[in-house]
Amino acid sequence: MGRIVWSIVLTVTLLVFVESAHAGKVDRLYVIDCGWAHAADQSLWSPGVNVGVPIDFSDNCYLIHHSDEGYLLWDTGITDRVAALPDGQFVQATRQTWHRAQTLGATLATLGVKPGDVRYVAISHFHPDHTGNVNELPDATVIIQKAEWDHAMALPQKPFSPEHKAQLIEGDKDLFADGSLTLLATPGHTPGHQSLLVHLDKTGNVVLSGDVVHFQSNWDARRVPGFNFDKAQSLTSMEKIARVLDEKHARLWINHDKPSSDVRKHAPEFYE
Ligand SMILES: [Zn+2]
Repeated sequence: MGRIVWSIVLTVTLLVFVESAHAGKVDRLYVIDCGWAHAADQSLWSPGVNVGVPIDFSDNCYLIHHSDEGYLLWDTGITDRVAALPDGQFVQATRQTWHRAQTLGATLATLGVKPGDVRYVAISHFHPDHTGNVNELPDATVIIQKAEWDHAMALPQKPFSPEHKAQLIEGDKDLFADGSLTLLATPGHTPGHQSLLVHLDKTGNVVLSGDVVHFQSNWDARRVPGFNFDKAQSLTSMEKIARVLDEKHARLWINHDKPSSDVRKHAPEFYE
């Protein structure tokens, strides 16, 4: 009799364990064209190298669907307003001209996603080519490093509404505690810059760079743009990413590297 009771207890324990072991996962990742930029002089990003040589930048957003948590958008790109400007918008600070083929809202609509469906907007950093449309997603919770929030919200011109719901992160974080999305603190470009490690069943592990590096040759040579907030931190963060790539057998998707972005699948296609 005791044996039967024990086997019942064991079975129940096992069932409880199996149930609690259920973990959510990222089942879709869409790469969304969130604008592009033409820069007259790439040496702004690679001091002393390719002086006066122009370069084009891609600028992607990444719509991520999590099985339990729904939609998370990683970065929001250049403001949708630029889509209405046929010659784009000139940005004096970086001598870039920004362009946008389609608004973020329009792209989301083609995927059947309404702005209200996006529960989280995770932001690599506060620069306007990454936060241009945060205010278009007023119901979403902004996920950002606390150091970045504190820095950005102290600026005279705030990148987005400080009234936004926000989850402030300090350091690395396994966001949904299931290994599917891991925020990686990679300060240097800005005080609280972060990157995102994504686990996909079929594609494997991918690191979304943010601006920890801007293009492939800068990654290969570990070059730091002259205007970065902290050069030493920038180098340390690049080494941290290199270590993660190694440990997790992950690939690095460099957001602004146009040649590699061009050959990636873009929405409505997706990675799983
Ligand atoms: Zn950028």
